[in-house]
Amino acid sequence: MPFGDDFALKYMGGRGFGAKILYDHLGKIKDPLGPENILTIAPGPLTGLFLPGAAKTHLVALAPLTGIYGDSNMGGNFGSELRQAGYDALVLTGRAEKLSYLWIDDDDVELVPAPDLAGKGALDTERAVKEALQSEEVRVAAIGPAGEKLVRFASINCDWGRNAGRCGMGAVLGSKNIKAIAVRGGQDLPVADASELRLLTETSLRDLSDHPLFEFWQQQGLMSVVDYLNTAGGLPTRNFQQNVFEHAEQIDGFKMEREFKIGDTACFGCPMSCGNICLVKNGKYKGTITEGPEYESACTLGSNLGVSDFAAILKGNQLCDELGIDTISAGVLVGTMIEAVDTGLLRPSDVDGMKLEWGNSDQITTLLEKIANREGVGDVLAGGSKAVLEKWPQLDPILVQTKGMEQSAYDARATISMALAYGTSDIGAHHTRAWTVGKELELGAKWTNEDRVNIVMYHQTIRPLFDMLGVCRLPWIELGFDEQRYAEYYSAVTGVPHRLDELLERSRALWDLTRLISVSRGISRKDDYPAPRMFDRPIEGGQYAGRVVDRGQYEELLDLYYQRRGWSEDGLPPAETAKSFEDRLT
Ligand code: SF4
Repeated sequence: MPFGDDFALKYMGGRGFGAKILYDHLGKIKDPLGPENILTIAPGPLTGLFLPGAAKTHLVALAPLTGIYGDSNMGGNFGSELRQAGYDALVLTGRAEKLSYLWIDDDDVELVPAPDLAGKGALDTERAVKEALQSEEVRVAAIGPAGEKLVRFASINCDWGRNAGRCGMGAVLGSKNIKAIAVRGGQDLPVADASELRLLTETSLRDLSDHPLFEFWQQQGLMSVVDYLNTAGGLPTRNFQQNVFEHAEQIDGFKMEREFKIGDTACFGCPMSCGNICLVKNGKYKGTITEGPEYESACTLGSNLGVSDFAAILKGNQLCDELGIDTISAGVLVGTMIEAVDTGLLRPSDVDGMKLEWGNSDQITTLLEKIANREGVGDVLAGGSKAVLEKWPQLDPILVQTKGMEQSAYDARATISMALAYGTSDIGAHHTRAWTVGKELELGAKWTNEDRVNIVMYHQTIRPLFDMLGVCRLPWIELGFDEQRYAEYYSAVTGVPHRLDELLERSRALWDLTRLISVSRGISRKDDYPAPRMFDRPIEGGQYAGRVVDRGQYEELLDLYYQRRGWSEDGLPPAETAKSFEDRLT
């Protein structure tokens, strides 16, 4: 169905389209895994253009992991292909009668029954669908067995390792009996002022490649963060008990480059090419080949589990991609299980007889497979943090999660603004809503609470804009791309002049909109806190030894944050927010 210019200009695309569509259908949705949930898969108006990072596709639905507003994004080539087929968004609701894949070939759209794909891995499914369609040009997004079994942190994989990991969007697709979506397009993308966009593109590419860190970024991508954070005393280790890993040099980007990396890969048209293709050449995991890991996976499947064998991390990463589960949620849940058995909070008999121990990669791969197949203890873990705490409430002090989402690999005790970032993130404890780590490590000693609220809100305002436009945040956060460019790109593409401050007002409105969605599911101040461990358990060792988040300080941060947003003390937007929402998106 056509959206119309007014809708397209107000909500822009990506997360903006998805949030509005979800909001409008919210009254009909009872269960995130019911057929009535509505999954929007939307690139943005910049996706598929030859701009740095213009490759993102957003997936929005009520989240199986948390039960509230949810979204996740993936790079690769899926979104650009979808736009070349002539679509700004796919909106899926209902449920196919049989396991099927959706085949979009420009204007032809078909639901293809695919019983043979049942139980297949996500990467194998991508290959099988390409073979069935006899085309290497087709782009395929697929779920693994975890999505079919409705694991609440199931991912969607495209282009052999680009994942929409968070929130359980793979389970939403699985609940609709859709194993994969294949797309092929042959149309040019609409650009109102092509010569202006060409000039902007040339300048952007030149500025990016002139950046002193550009080459290092291409060599390591986000894997450079392992060494950076370990040196700074902020690398989560053994389920966030420590922040310095004594074997960090065995799992960092330099180790990867020396012994495992065999190539680079990039999302559509992106010169940053941050993807690392790695191969294990020797030992127990010989022959394992995978795209990645990036930092989050290296930490959550590495230092956070006490794993010092980089080959084992690659095996875990490859297994998560193939099974179709989010590496962050999986790593945090497995770490919680290991600590629980290690400290006696659980007995081995609670975890299928396994005497779990740190760094044991055989046990870790067994647990990952159990989760994806919902076997034994894996069936509990497949429900995510909420299910784990329902069964074992004694794990609350050690399970690092917010709103039911397992926390990303940055410790809120080392950088207090991240406590607010996690606590107020609309989807749960995820770092891409506001990543304030670098600035706080550099300048935080001088910061007031107001400074911390300011930086969190700044991130929560600029980042939704990227997600509406369909661009990657990394050129901005890693290589200093200035925000103004994005208003210029959008103006050239639409032919309608836009100032940056106008676009940022849409971001603020979008943040209110997603809050309203979650408030309708019971979210309020009580849910806006980082995990209990951040308040109660001092960091062991390293530069930040003994540090916790001070509860009094956190309450002040939260008060200030709500004031700045114009929300009540209980974190609720005023009644007129919903009514005024459309007016703010001019
Ligand atoms: S920076 Fe990396 S993740 Fe972002 S678009 Fe470019 S290649 Fe993809």
